[in-house]
Amino acid sequence: MAKKGILIVISGFSGAGKGTLVKKLLEKYDEYALSVSMTTRAPRPGERDGEAYFFTDKEHFEDTIRQNGLVEYAVYCGNYYGTPRAYVEEKLTEGKNVILEIEIQGALKIKSQFPESLLIFLTPPSGEELKRRLEGRGTENAEVIAKRLARAVEESEGVEAYDYIVVNDKLEKCVEEVHGLVEAARRAPVRQKAFIKEIREELQRFTKGAE
Ligand code: 5GP
Repeated sequence: MAKKGILIVISGFSGAGKGTLVKKLLEKYDEYALSVSMTTRAPRPGERDGEAYFFTDKEHFEDTIRQNGLVEYAVYCGNYYGTPRAYVEEKLTEGKNVILEIEIQGALKIKSQFPESLLIFLTPPSGEELKRRLEGRGTENAEVIAKRLARAVEESEGVEAYDYIVVNDKLEKCVEEVHGLVEAARRAPVRQKAFIKEIREELQRFTKGAE
């Protein structure tokens, strides 16, 4: 079967554990590539430019939008976040499954531009657990945590637009669940158009030979 990569969007409430999940997925399977986003938010302690994000200012971000350099972008809690176009296109062409770890507005833009993309929504087992994880992270002040919880309420309204919801309770189990969904999605005929075309043409050639 054709080995074409697919575009995977992983969203989830802030604190759902997307970062850890994606890191594990990349460590375990080499068929994934992670897109590094551009943002105008300030780096958190330990975040390095070009790894967590490409950190930039509003002016450069808006220039990049004008130059059509982003596949999608959104404003989240007062900052710009966007997906650089070049990397995504290059890796998909190489046959990698490209992961975008983005929020819901961006996810919807991706679905309308790339209908064959796979949208996965990651959530902790409960609201209580989400609050505990955000507070426990210790990298954000009370005001930011409150904003993120309010945003989580808004995002919960849009979850129906996703293809799958995955509960992040036990990390290892969650990694296998997501990988399983990707494997299954790749086998859907809509993502195997080139393979179907090839086998159909081959069969048609046999039929012609028999006439
Ligand atoms: P954080 O500030 O916690 O790193 O990210 C805030 C939110 O922005 C998260 O939900 C994250 O998934 C999302 N995000 C990160 N990069 C992008 C991007 O390129 N585009 C969009 N639309 N959202 C992003």
